[in-house]
Amino acid sequence: AVCDVLIGNDGIWSAIRAQMWDEDQKGPGSGCTYSGYIVFAGETIYKPDDYFDVGYKVYMGPKRYFVTSDVGRGRIQWYAFVAVGEGEQVPRGPREKKDYVKAAFQGWSQQVQDLLEATPSDTVEDRSLYDRPPSVGRSWADGPVALAGDACHPMMPNLGQGGCQAMEDAYMICEKLKGCKSRSEVPDALQDYYRSRVFRASAIQGLSRIASDLLLSTFTFPWKPSEGLSSPHGKGRGDFNYNAVAVSYLKYLLPSIFNIQFSFLYSYHPYKWTAAEVQSLVKKTMDRHRRDSEAAWAQREKAVADGTVGALEEEQKKPSFFTLAAQTK
Ligand SMILES: Cc1cc2nc3c(=O)[nH]c(=O)nc-3n(C[C@H](O)[C@H](O)[C@H](O)COP(=O)(O)OP(=O)(O)OC[C@H]3O[C@@H](n4cnc5c(N)ncnc54)[C@H](O)[C@@H]3O)c2cc1C
Repeated sequence: AVCDVLIGNDGIWSAIRAQMWDEDQKGPGSGCTYSGYIVFAGETIYKPDDYFDVGYKVYMGPKRYFVTSDVGRGRIQWYAFVAVGEGEQVPRGPREKKDYVKAAFQGWSQQVQDLLEATPSDTVEDRSLYDRPPSVGRSWADGPVALAGDACHPMMPNLGQGGCQAMEDAYMICEKLKGCKSRSEVPDALQDYYRSRVFRASAIQGLSRIASDLLLSTFTFPWKPSEGLSSPHGKGRGDFNYNAVAVSYLKYLLPSIFNIQFSFLYSYHPYKWTAAEVQSLVKKTMDRHRRDSEAAWAQREKAVADGTVGALEEEQKKPSFFTLAAQTK
């Protein structure tokens, strides 16, 4: 095939990156490193009391954390991050995977256990998480070819920014290319794209990794100074140790840290929305969200009453988060 411009937006195991940077596409020679986490994901129709008030919840503990996200139409998608050594085996069958996650989060909030219980086993999948260090000294562009998204800056999902950064790349590529009058201008435009994106994407890539490493190495069972020097699995179920002390006092700093961090993450505004536009969009989206969710819950309640919930789940089965990502090939 012949083309004027080639954008390598082919994900973390990018064939185009491997060719451009003369690396292996996968494995130790690919420059990608295992993060120490496996993420399990599942999805179900579910109605927590705060569905319309809280879109995203994170439950944290030592060497694992659990995230729930409202994905619309009365559904919740969850991610269970579990620290697992490289090469260590996890169960392969869907039922076994669900049992593994339930056991890993045994004794956690009842909300977590209830959600897991309500999730059909065959929606549960897992994936090992990899990222790369930022590619600051090596351009994402070479001649008329450029990398974008996970191909050049794969990151840990902790800050929910991998997809956002891919979209910012796409926007910037269009901005730079639209000024080109001939093919000969494309290589400079793509280098310009790289220079304008590398600082922000690398900073977010680094922040995502730091957040993940901190969770893995520092987070421990909550301990409260009021509980004395040791309350091993007693009152607050905390264990006194230096990390527990740091985590206990971190809560005073976190609001400021989050404020700075999220101001930076959400600082990219190529288009400035007016307050009225935002309000109208939010209202339209939330009205539709409420309508669709209530309908989905009513349909499920009826199926439970009729004893046909299995058939409904089968009918509503759709490719998982991971399968959808792989299917677009
Ligand atoms: C658990 C989890 C939660 C996440 N949560 C968030 C979040 O809340 N917010 C957020 O912004 N990001 C999130 N992300 C990150 C986000 O999913 C990725 O950063 C994003 O999908 C990257 O987009 P991409 O287009 O660069 O790569 P991909 O989404 O990987 O797309 C690459 C595409 O290229 C195709 N492809 C690969 N090779 C070839 C080939 N040779 N020929 C043709 N096609 C090919 C693949 O099939 C794929 O469709 C999360 C990731 C995970 C794992």
